[in-house]
Amino acid sequence: MQDEIRTILNYNKDTIMLFGSTLLAHPELGYEEFFSSAFIESAYRKMGLPIENKLARTGLKARIEGKTHEITVCILSELDAVISPSNQFAAESGEAHACGHSTQSTQVYAAALALNTLKEQLDGDVVCMAVPAEEFLDLQHRLELQKQGSIAYLSGKQELIHLGAFDDVDMVIMIHSQPENPSYDVFVGGGSLGFTAKHIQFIGKEAHGAAPFKGVNALQAANLAMAGMNANRETFSEEERIRIHPILTKGGDVVNTVPSDVRMETYVRGSCKQAIDKGCNVVDRCVQAGASMMGAEVKVKTIPGYLPLKQDSNLSTLFASIAKDVQGIGDVVWGKDMIGSTDMGDLAQLKPCIQPTMGGFIGEAHSKEFCMVDAWESYRLGGELLAELVLALLTNGACQAKQVRDSFIPSMDRETYLVHLQAQGGR
Ligand SMILES: [Zn+2]
Ligand SMILES: [Zn+2]
Repeated sequence: MQDEIRTILNYNKDTIMLFGSTLLAHPELGYEEFFSSAFIESAYRKMGLPIENKLARTGLKARIEGKTHEITVCILSELDAVISPSNQFAAESGEAHACGHSTQSTQVYAAALALNTLKEQLDGDVVCMAVPAEEFLDLQHRLELQKQGSIAYLSGKQELIHLGAFDDVDMVIMIHSQPENPSYDVFVGGGSLGFTAKHIQFIGKEAHGAAPFKGVNALQAANLAMAGMNANRETFSEEERIRIHPILTKGGDVVNTVPSDVRMETYVRGSCKQAIDKGCNVVDRCVQAGASMMGAEVKVKTIPGYLPLKQDSNLSTLFASIAKDVQGIGDVVWGKDMIGSTDMGDLAQLKPCIQPTMGGFIGEAHSKEFCMVDAWESYRLGGELLAELVLALLTNGACQAKQVRDSFIPSMDRETYLVHLQAQGGR
């Protein structure tokens, strides 16, 4: 089977390379990936696949129908880019695919080309899904979209869960980049931190910069709040892995006016819900105290972030055994946690999910240096891994897929999950 898949991918090399370079050259921020979405849709339409589009603004699903339709495996990619102006592939606006999301979409496309050719062998369906807004940024804009009623939640997978877009798939598979890892090693079964986001506004009183005694300085309030957060860091234990990393998104209006409107955003990350709640409590106390010390006001909006990722062990084991045999893959490494957080953590509460990572990238994620070592190797190996895994799951009466589906114990159903989002400060 490996040879057959490889032959199909090699035969389509030019098409796959063009697909990848087009997406890489058109980075777009979350919920605004209109070019990428339309481009991917047209590629799947050319393959004759039925499409559901405009899911959560830009998301789409293309379905490869097998011989039977009793079980469905979803292979997923993320559409959005980040802001990384110095990255060599950055657009003029500063947006760039600086953690490999365009690579993911190309790997899924490559796998789809192979699986569509081999669909007569599949005892189930494959959904190729492109999802918006994994990176949790540009919050002001997304809050505006939420206010307009265009979205209910700020992350793509949260929104798609809310819309029921995952209801007709039984498991979800995605491969993310492993930065700073030039060889094609794969990392299986690791976890990730979860987080909650905070959007904070300090409100002071403006006055001429030369008459600060007539004003209330909101920037000083923010500064005191950050000092308070820093003083609390020694109270976080190793196991809680609490990370608080605020930025000021607005520090004032003009230099000769006392700042009266200062905005701050932060994530509060942690290894479990209790740790995240503890970190949130610290942030809430510190921003209240900072404001109070200056006689300013403060408004805090708590925004549901992502839950810690727990990958499905059956899918991980199968993926690892396939990866060992794929020619060109380096080491298979178990249990290395990822640095950031992902909304796959949320989806993995409801469905069996994996998000192994694969090397072939230099540079740190979201940095100037981040890029693929060799685009074709990334597309080919990722496509091959996904196609092989789907074939393993969906042949022989789909017995392996059924075993994954039937042995999974969800920690939440969709309704409980939506209640959780609302309790976290959702819509
Ligand atoms: Zn990223
Ligand atoms: Zn990413």
